[in-house]
Amino acid sequence: MTTLAIDIGGTKIAAAVCDENDAITHRWRVPTPMDADAINHHIANIYHEAVAAGHDDIQAIGISAAGNVGADRRTLTFAANIPAWINYDLSEHIGALIDHAVPVVVENDANCAGWGEYVHGAGQGSSNMVALTVGTGLGGAIVIDGRLYRGSFGMAAELGHLPMVPDGDTCGCGLRGCAERYTSGSALERFAKSAVRRRPQDAERLMELCGGDVDKLEGPMVSQAAQEGDVLGLYAFGKIGEWLGRAMAATAAVLDPDVFVIGGGVVAVGDILLEPARYNYQRFLEGSAYRGHASIVAATAGQDAGLIGAANLALR
Ligand SMILES: [Zn+2]
Repeated sequence: MTTLAIDIGGTKIAAAVCDENDAITHRWRVPTPMDADAINHHIANIYHEAVAAGHDDIQAIGISAAGNVGADRRTLTFAANIPAWINYDLSEHIGALIDHAVPVVVENDANCAGWGEYVHGAGQGSSNMVALTVGTGLGGAIVIDGRLYRGSFGMAAELGHLPMVPDGDTCGCGLRGCAERYTSGSALERFAKSAVRRRPQDAERLMELCGGDVDKLEGPMVSQAAQEGDVLGLYAFGKIGEWLGRAMAATAAVLDPDVFVIGGGVVAVGDILLEPARYNYQRFLEGSAYRGHASIVAATAGQDAGLIGAANLALR
């Protein structure tokens, strides 16, 4: 019994056949076209290739998509990157291309990555988990009593859009002051750039890494500088760590989880991010001295968390 997992990312479509333990046995990767029809045909072709390669026991296709997914787990209600994905029944469109041979289950990408961490990563054994993916934006996934929590309209766990700052920075979603404006890979770059401009006397290493052009400063350069002990690199991580802690404290006031799993590229710096996050989580938590505390840990399921989560969720 196997599952075909598909992760439709901003630049590539990753696909994998997963066995009954969600272990990957076969992979594909193609660039993501911006056209919805072309995406559907790519996915149908991958399914046909998988069957032709001997994977004739595929039970379901599980799709991880960057967008808002309806409670029916079929329909994309909105996606910032694919204009056609407005109230778009992705499951039906792909199903029609494969003669409805197997069910096609669609999930939000942050939910898939978070669920991957829950079943095979740092969230294993927890009852109530919150996963936060610190990438370009800030993605969230919530597990309550061992089950993925999707909300009434499929819109739960949009933790990147927690309103943190009244009349704050304008977010890609159109609102202002959302958490991901202050804690994300983009926020890291913004904090670092503003520090370089304000404190040029301390910016020697960051300027060296970006070739002397502060507009070309990117997240991985800030990570490298921080790991070398650079004062401005550490400052930028301190800022996104503080806001991550504030966002977790706000989340804990509602959900009281036992673990926060922090994923995404920037978490490779480990405690440089997690220590300020832990400190500020406790600082902004109600009744902090007189209650149990969630552990705050780095994700461990790696790049494949989304595929693993999509594969596992497709059969649930
Ligand atoms: Zn927002």
